[in-house]
Amino acid sequence: MPIDVVLAGLFVFFTTSLGAFLALIFKKFPEVGLDTSLAFSGGIMLVASFTSLILPSIDNGNVYISMFGIVLGFFVIYLIGKLIPHEEKFLKYNSSNEYKGKVRNIILLALAIIIHNLPEGLAVGVSMVNDVNKGWATAIAIGIQDIPEGLAVALPLIFLSNRVLLPLSIGVLSGFSEFVFAVIGGVSFSIMHFLLPLGLAFAGGAMIYVTVKEVFPQVYSSGKNEGYITIGFLIGVLVMLFLDTALG
Ligand SMILES: [Zn+2]
Repeated sequence: MPIDVVLAGLFVFFTTSLGAFLALIFKKFPEVGLDTSLAFSGGIMLVASFTSLILPSIDNGNVYISMFGIVLGFFVIYLIGKLIPHEEKFLKYNSSNEYKGKVRNIILLALAIIIHNLPEGLAVGVSMVNDVNKGWATAIAIGIQDIPEGLAVALPLIFLSNRVLLPLSIGVLSGFSEFVFAVIGGVSFSIMHFLLPLGLAFAGGAMIYVTVKEVFPQVYSSGKNEGYITIGFLIGVLVMLFLDTALG
């Protein structure tokens, strides 16, 4: 197991960084493309919360433990969001000049990314402890949806900072934080195996919360291209369902 956790962690680290690199190539990525691919991420996250985390949690424990874990996941991410003031709009492509030079916002963005990456990294690690095949299905799905997320992190920063190295570093750092959370989740729940049902549900609840509170409001916030965005979401749902069946 531990080697799989590390490899899966490295995989999501790599795909998030890849997304950040893509931002350097596609400096003029159209907003509709970014919103649609982020909605695709949201579809994967929502389905993965259930197939990789909550349903296995019920199988390993029972529905009450699972419900408690989900509540805990919501509560902890809510609390982190309250303690760390973060600017949600920065996960999205924003080319306006009004934010230029605001270093504070870059720090806020970095913190927002950590909130987002905590459940995803944890999901990969905890899911791997539960079942290696399901763990890899989760890692591949999370990895795929990390590409648009890495892109979404780096793009606004290119406009904010007018630099290349900083957006790239923050993108890579966000991937690294996912790796760290994957290893933390993997190691701690292999040691405390009896807490695995709770850990699975916790990661699932946290991911649902992030999807509903951070991803969906952002992709629909422009009020434009709703059709494309919804199709992106639908494809994400189908891809995760397929990966879970084919690999899990
Ligand atoms: Zn995500």
